[in-house]
Amino acid sequence: MNDRYSRQTILPGIGKTGQEKLANGSIVIIGCGALGTVTATTLVRAGVGRVKIVDRDFIEYHNLQRQVIFDEDDIRGQLPKAVAAERHLKKVNSSIDIEGVVADVNYTNIERLVYGADLIVDGLDNLETRLLINDAALKLKIPWIYGGAISSYGMMMSIIPDKTPCLRCIGHNTSTHGLALTCDTAGVIAPAPFVVGSLQAIEAMKILVGSPDVNPDLLYVNVWLGEITHLKINRRPNCPSCAGQYEYLDARYGTRATSLCGQNAVQVLNPESRGVALPALAARLQGIGKVSYNDFMLTFAVDSKEMVVFPDGRAIIKNTTDESTARGLYAKYIGA
Ligand SMILES: [Zn+2]
Repeated sequence: MNDRYSRQTILPGIGKTGQEKLANGSIVIIGCGALGTVTATTLVRAGVGRVKIVDRDFIEYHNLQRQVIFDEDDIRGQLPKAVAAERHLKKVNSSIDIEGVVADVNYTNIERLVYGADLIVDGLDNLETRLLINDAALKLKIPWIYGGAISSYGMMMSIIPDKTPCLRCIGHNTSTHGLALTCDTAGVIAPAPFVVGSLQAIEAMKILVGSPDVNPDLLYVNVWLGEITHLKINRRPNCPSCAGQYEYLDARYGTRATSLCGQNAVQVLNPESRGVALPALAARLQGIGKVSYNDFMLTFAVDSKEMVVFPDGRAIIKNTTDESTARGLYAKYIGA
């Protein structure tokens, strides 16, 4: 079994002691798209002892171009990403704990999801949830690794509470580099998230083994041009998050409908929902449209719209980007 890690324990920066620290380490990967699949497969193979993967979405064909652990069977099986990730990665390394959690990360659950972890790895596709991670990480004093990729470029940075600037400090330092773009408008080629995810994974390993080589800079990568640039980030003098004002965590931004990056779809959340019994809902919708369901989700098609409903009451309404249309369909078929 020890042979499994022999090629990485040879490295002076890791060694036997570092490997033990990895084995005792606990990480939470939030978002399992292109970045999340790269960091998850790398850190599972590296022998991190506990890996939790949180994602709200299911797998579609346009994901396979870059989301490196998924395959066509996962789509035929209608598997949520977190479930498919857990199944695949358990076959890669059965000697560690791997847990997939199907959930939308928001202010109501983030502290519970990351509590007790040694490290959080960002695999998200939107800034609002990253700022939520930033607040939770600073509050709970958990290091986290920001990463983002779009088109042919991306960036990443390790954020260590009380030691480094945070994500809200970065926003003050850089205004461009495409933070506001989405994969809808800009697209993405796989090597961009592969490189950024690999850089996140190595920073994660260094943080877990307690290496002095943790990179203090924001790294900006352009894979098309073959560039990696180090950007020095300074702490913003009156950064609310660094000052302990966790506005994203506390403000209760109760977004109930959000347009999803890279999809012609809107997610509807029902914070008051105690969950939906999928068999009962399927029985209700039978005769109105085409319904199918498994343990993880229910798919319902009516007119030109398709909706996917999860047991926690969350729904993704496809073929629309209009949030009020999506809320209306949710109210009509699932119940507000
Ligand atoms: Zn800050």
